Amino acid sequence: MISNYTGIVPGSDMLFIRKLAERLAGKSFLHINSTKAGGGVAEILQRMIPIMVELGIDARWDIIEGDDRFFDITKKLHNSLQGSPETINDDMWEYHLEVNKRNAKKLNLDADAVLIHDPQPAPLIGFKQRGVWIWRCHIDVASPYKGIFENLSRYCTQYDAAIFSVAKFTRSLGIDQFIIPPSIDPLSDKNRDLSDEEIHDTRVRFNLPPDRPIILQISRFDRFKDPIGVIQAYRMVKKYNDCLLVLAGSPATDDPEGEAVLKEVQEYASDDPDIRILMLPPFSDRDINALQRIATVVLQKSLKEGFGLTVSEAMWKGKPVIGGAVGGIPLQIVHGLTGFLVHSVEGAAFRIRQFLNYPEMAERMGTMGREYVRNNFLITRQIRDYLTVWYSQEHKGSNLLEL
Ligand code: UDP
Repeated sequence: MISNYTGIVPGSDMLFIRKLAERLAGKSFLHINSTKAGGGVAEILQRMIPIMVELGIDARWDIIEGDDRFFDITKKLHNSLQGSPETINDDMWEYHLEVNKRNAKKLNLDADAVLIHDPQPAPLIGFKQRGVWIWRCHIDVASPYKGIFENLSRYCTQYDAAIFSVAKFTRSLGIDQFIIPPSIDPLSDKNRDLSDEEIHDTRVRFNLPPDRPIILQISRFDRFKDPIGVIQAYRMVKKYNDCLLVLAGSPATDDPEGEAVLKEVQEYASDDPDIRILMLPPFSDRDINALQRIATVVLQKSLKEGFGLTVSEAMWKGKPVIGGAVGGIPLQIVHGLTGFLVHSVEGAAFRIRQFLNYPEMAERMGTMGREYVRNNFLITRQIRDYLTVWYSQEHKGSNLLEL
């Protein structure tokens, strides 16, 4: 219930949302991405759609379907947009379009506003019927591999507007662009308060000791999340401080590389009993919540990152966080206040040791982090922003203040 957010989120967000929803009630708002499970986009949509429906908006969420070839291509596309030297040849672009064409035939694209998430379904714009169409880019496109963004732009430029998570990601597209960082839901199973029994239950099931420091990174098994770098940092720390490392992840249906990366990580961890690699089933929200609460220090040592919801999730739980200084992580971590930003394995090891050796400092930063998330990265702020963009696009050319 939307009223359950009162007292948790900033009051101004609630007021703003209600005012906008009065204007948009009864209209339809369609979201499309490429997976129902795994990764940040699905995480947000599954919480946001019911809230919008409760606000009187006819909100829907559909996914496009594809085969292995399609998702191999889109993963390559994703990687090259984040800077990897991958080539997408004409045949691959053609197949990308072809699969979207097939999806367009099956999907009901009739809506007042359509938000297309990420590159996988971007070609759907070619099948627009009516309404406002917005392309929402969640990935780190600060420095794509040469020519790749220009190629994808054939689709992006046809939209009415684009939304990026971070100012650095915006490009010259000739359409309106907005900066809207993602958010977390404080009432979801992933983030709500847990009882001591619930936390204990997870601790016992994963056989985690109550009396040893735990370093945690929760991520899909993706090279850009740098799981190997995390193990290297842990090994440096381990020479001086006792601790355990937990690397937890689960598969995403639109990420075909997960298995191979998991294997690499398992091999690299070798037989160290203090490195726990947990392959969680999809929708392990309560366990992830508990792991984040059990952790002494939370890492998100990404090398590229669209936003990094896991950072806000940990900060919301009052945890000291260490993140790679990339993509959306510096929006969340104000270096030295709400956590530490790092640029190397050595930097990560140094900051982990600082948190382990100065628990009062860790607690102080954790407390500040929670307030920072409250003011900036809760779901009501993102709903407010989406509705504002939709409303402003519907009234392009009018003076909004007079409406
Ligand atoms: N997540 C999850 N299970 C996992 C790993 C991650 O539910 O095994 C969640 C995580 O808690 C976060 C989201 O997936 O909510 C990941 O979002 P993020 O922005 O950190 O990264 P992305 O996967 O979108 O690149």
